[in-house]
Amino acid sequence: MNFDRERLLGLTETYGTPLYVYDAEVMNRQYNRMVKAFSSVKKLKLNYACKANTNLNILKYFKSLGAGLDTVSIQEVMIGIKAGFEPDEIIYTPNGVSFEEIEMAANLGVKINIDNISVLEHFGHEYPDYPVCVRINPHIMAGGNSNISVGHIDSKFGISIHQMPLVKRLVENTGLKINGIHMHTGSDILDIDVFLQGAEILFEVAKDYHFLEYLDFGSGFKVPYKPDGDETDIEYLGEKLGARFNEFEAKYGKELTLMFEPGKYLVSESGYFLASVNVVKQTTSTVFAGIDSGFNHLIRPMFYGAHHEIHNLSNPEGRFRYYTVVGYICETDTFGANRKINEIKEGDVLCFQNAGAYCYSMASNYNSRFKPAEVLLLDGKDYLIRKREDLEDILKNVVEISI
Ligand SMILES: *Cc1c(COP(=O)(O)O)cnc(C)c1O
Repeated sequence: MNFDRERLLGLTETYGTPLYVYDAEVMNRQYNRMVKAFSSVKKLKLNYACKANTNLNILKYFKSLGAGLDTVSIQEVMIGIKAGFEPDEIIYTPNGVSFEEIEMAANLGVKINIDNISVLEHFGHEYPDYPVCVRINPHIMAGGNSNISVGHIDSKFGISIHQMPLVKRLVENTGLKINGIHMHTGSDILDIDVFLQGAEILFEVAKDYHFLEYLDFGSGFKVPYKPDGDETDIEYLGEKLGARFNEFEAKYGKELTLMFEPGKYLVSESGYFLASVNVVKQTTSTVFAGIDSGFNHLIRPMFYGAHHEIHNLSNPEGRFRYYTVVGYICETDTFGANRKINEIKEGDVLCFQNAGAYCYSMASNYNSRFKPAEVLLLDGKDYLIRKREDLEDILKNVVEISI
């Protein structure tokens, strides 16, 4: 366990459960680890992919570290501007949104990344003077789960590299300037060599465009989920890709910015989800520990089989027993099956690790439950950064009619 058990327990006394806690020091460590890995590159920009965790204060924290912002909706763009990012520090990478939404982003002046030929054509006619980035699909399979792998041949993401001749013709016809080439091949990249193959394809495309300012290699970097779990070897990637980027830049003959847009890599390990045990229930084959939460608050295990380590904060010396940890939602709602955990009693507090990315941001009010509170640990202090919801919050947009 690499966290401060007493401190987390203390926070549950102050703020109640269920509770999300994020440690800024971990975000700082991950951010600077990546910066250091690419120190051979002159111009590096890491854009925090804020869909992983959209709390305004997390965005402000990354801004303070020097990050840019990666967004996938106009609402995320607006939250980014509210967090203090300059429009040109924000890249907007939508997929399948309306043209009106892309126009809104253009009016705000953010970097726009287009992943569809018909949209590129439409945009080129309407905004010939607004430079855009093109998202390519290099058709490499770097991701883990098929739901989060976005580079394969049938993926809805990006413009196929086989369609690049059409993109070139479109650019010539409309006079559109391409200022960036982008790829994002999926989540859980472990094989650096596969990633580097994708990068070679990107370089191959990029050499044909003469107004480039940046090359964006997306994200999908893996973090460990288990004590000895695999993670992307970012230092090795930095060494290899950094060198290739510098080589390309020299040949291209103009200074370029190397960009990435990590979400999970920056925030996953910073987060802890804390919940209290409502019931311990022994059945014929299993001991269930039922907590005061469910997939409404943390959907990743049910959604794509994600693993979150679970610890009993209240009884760290207790003997190990096997538990299936479940939620209170009236459907199958399993956080972890057959887990070895220090003996659990009703009222104990359990801690879920890797709860910084795609946890709160995917939470819902299913079963009419309130979304949890969020706390940020920063410079030795704890700050409430989102209040727990109440009944008013979940009823506020309901329009009651007389029946
Ligand atoms: C989701 C997303 C990311 C972040 O992916 P992680 O696996 O969380 O690092 C980056 N870029 C784009 C375009 C995305 O949609």
